[in-house]
Amino acid sequence: MLINKINTYNFFNMNCKKARVLMSAAVDSELNLKEEQDFLAHLSECKECHEEFREAKKTKMIIKERIVQFKAPQSLVNSNMQLTSIPATEHEDTLLFE
Ligand SMILES: [Zn+2]
Repeated sequence: MLINKINTYNFFNMNCKKARVLMSAAVDSELNLKEEQDFLAHLSECKECHEEFREAKKTKMIIKERIVQFKAPQSLVNSNMQLTSIPATEHEDTLLFE
């Protein structure tokens, strides 16, 4: 494990440590273009981080499903779906006018 990390640090522009820092933002699609390019470039070279990212996305999806399925009443689920289908800027405008 330690040897793997030293090797990837030497071979790639972005090291695993930096990739892991960006990973949670990447799961939420919150990276800027440059960060995303660097991050994806690292994933294409590093199987370990690629797997980690795949798992992180899967985990996030499962958590999201569980929250909707078990915690939110059906009416709330419906209104959430309506809100998320409206682009963020439009949603803000609607709130201002109300
Ligand atoms: Zn890596």
